[in-house]
Amino acid sequence: MKSLEFLIFLGPPGSGKGTQAEILTNKLNFIHLSIGDLLRENIVNNTELGKLASKYVKSGELVPDELIIDLMDSFITELKNESNVSGIILDGFPRTINQATALENKIKQLNVNIKAVLNLDISDQEILNRLAGRGREDDKPELIKNRLKVYRNQTEPLLEFYKERSLLDTIDGDQSESDVSNAIFNILKAEVA
Ligand code: AMP
Repeated sequence: MKSLEFLIFLGPPGSGKGTQAEILTNKLNFIHLSIGDLLRENIVNNTELGKLASKYVKSGELVPDELIIDLMDSFITELKNESNVSGIILDGFPRTINQATALENKIKQLNVNIKAVLNLDISDQEILNRLAGRGREDDKPELIKNRLKVYRNQTEPLLEFYKERSLLDTIDGDQSESDVSNAIFNILKAEVA
């Protein structure tokens, strides 16, 4: 069975997960999985998944775990059969302890590894500055506040979950885009060495 590696990005909305994941996919032979992008595509195309997910995405709440775990499961199973991919960058997944446990089971079953969990740590002020300039439908100020609350309550406990597994690396996400990506490269180089 082919070996696949996983890189996980954690961090609040606006912390640069998507941007940094794109920079990395261009340098490594990795695929970028953004559950948020997948959901938005499904909503635009009005698929069954899109119809189910729409109200959650539009209100800044998390889509129920069962739906997201199924999505992740089929994506990873499909990719596992593609011979030319070295790994997957997970951007915005897992976002709950349930999702992290499901991912852990999946990767055990496939006999693959989590290479690192990269936590982009960013101040609330910087989040507001960045999201104000992005203009996504769920980037309105009242929704940003709700998404931040959801992050603190449901996703932040993952920092401890991955710290316990010695997988967590925290990066100062207030830095410039290139400084953040240099910091990430240094961490990944150290992992290889
Ligand atoms: P993002 O593009 O990562 O900011 O995600 C946008 C929205 O998609 C979130 O506010 C959630 O409604 C939904 N979403 C993305 N990833 C997940 C996930 N792992 N679990 C549940 N909902 C998610």
